[in-house]
Amino acid sequence: MKTTADIRREFLEFFAERGHTIVPSASLVPGNDPTLLFTNSGMVQFKDVFLGAEKRSYVRVADVQRCLRAGGKHNDLDQVGYTARHHTFFEMLGNWSFGDYFKKEAIEWAWELLTRVWQLPKERLLATVYHTDDESYAIWRDVVGLPEDRIIRIGDNKGAPFASDNFWQMADTGPCGPCTEIFYDHGENYAGGPPGSPDEDGDRYIEIWNNVFMQFDRAADGTLTPLPAPCVDTGMGLERIAAVLQHAHSNYEIDLFKTLIGRIAELTNTTDLDNKSLRVIADHIRASSFLIADGVLPSNEGRGYVLRRIIRRALRHGWMLGVREVFFHKLVDTLDALMGEAYPVLRTQKDFIARALLAEEERFAQTLDAGMRIFSDLAERHPETIPGVDAFRLYDTYGFPLDLTQDMARERGLQVDIDGFNVAMTQQKDTARAAGKFGGGLTMPAELVAQLSPTRFTGYDTLAGEGAQVVA
Ligand code: ATP
Ligand code: MG
Ligand code: MG
Ligand code: MG
Repeated sequence: MKTTADIRREFLEFFAERGHTIVPSASLVPGNDPTLLFTNSGMVQFKDVFLGAEKRSYVRVADVQRCLRAGGKHNDLDQVGYTARHHTFFEMLGNWSFGDYFKKEAIEWAWELLTRVWQLPKERLLATVYHTDDESYAIWRDVVGLPEDRIIRIGDNKGAPFASDNFWQMADTGPCGPCTEIFYDHGENYAGGPPGSPDEDGDRYIEIWNNVFMQFDRAADGTLTPLPAPCVDTGMGLERIAAVLQHAHSNYEIDLFKTLIGRIAELTNTTDLDNKSLRVIADHIRASSFLIADGVLPSNEGRGYVLRRIIRRALRHGWMLGVREVFFHKLVDTLDALMGEAYPVLRTQKDFIARALLAEEERFAQTLDAGMRIFSDLAERHPETIPGVDAFRLYDTYGFPLDLTQDMARERGLQVDIDGFNVAMTQQKDTARAAGKFGGGLTMPAELVAQLSPTRFTGYDTLAGEGAQVVA
């Protein structure tokens, strides 16, 4: 069986043989890009090369890039645990051309790697093209020989959260262009229709590789300016192609995740290996460890707050599995054994990562149990919508980020009143400002907040303190 390590290596060898320079993965924290929270795809480290603002010594390059989709335009945090194919942290195999080769070579090589080197059955593969891109359509039909009923034209999804979209953008501004995507049909045992169909959200047809033809720079007002030279930008999810090559359906069944999930099951005394919480924890230990390795620490703002939210989601899943002690940081060793060779930054930082995770576990442990009990009480009293003011108390006093409460509500088929939450948040900020002390992003202990607005905090302030989440 091909391991994920084999797949990484074979991908890079294939493109090295075709004149590509191999470069290391960049950090999850983009250098010099205020528009972007995290590296969400392989192209991020080449953004300025596309724009013509930076020159490199090569025009063809390939790599394996660590990526995070947990904020901004690309955010898959809410898919984790619900689909077979989404992670927050994942690895993207990519090859690029900076004004060198274009559509024909990119498509032909992708096909060659998948069907000749990796021997995927051709009849399981489909391609989508941007609806007006006749050139890519013709390459798939006439050069590759893909039957027309497996080439699907797709437009822009116009903001639909999840639907296919064959115009790729890194963010609301920056390099973008039409793309052609390759899908693998996992077979009729799985639910879902082909890309572009009404039930395309299922996990039968899984997108494995996107080939983007970078042609424009999008400005904040939406204007598209042509790039100095048309470029190729491709990305293939390592975990998704590994699932296909290992004859598994879900990403969570590949070699790497099997080992990781086995260890989590052991630490949490879980016998049902299909338990969703195991998958979420496995996803989140990767995301948190790599974020810390790249210099992010849990905090109440920006990237640090995304990290805190991811860790606390994982800890809540541990709690659901019955764990009442710290456990999460113990997974760093297993992760290092699995990924430390491919990512030296993980290996060199592993002790620091474990310590940072332990500190956050200890902090949240002080309020997690009480918050969980309060939530289940709320859920019983409010069978449809958790009031915003209560979600705010969970946030403020018990350190439950809003998205954590929403996630718990979702599991019970409930909503959270977001507007009400925001009102409570604004009121508190106003109160704090009126008190004249807590401007500018300072963190204020919940006891103090409770004193400032006694009517809204009665009943909860006994436990206030350590879990406080006030962002003034
Ligand atoms: P999907 O439609 O399945 O959400 P996408 O179109 O958002 O994927 P792209 O932005 O085109 O994904 O990224 C390129 C490739 O990266 C995808 O074809 C897929 O193989 C992989 N990928 C994207 N998002 C994820 C994720 N959250 N977890 C794992 N792999 C992913
Ligand atoms: Mg997506
Ligand atoms: Mg897609
Ligand atoms: Mg895509």
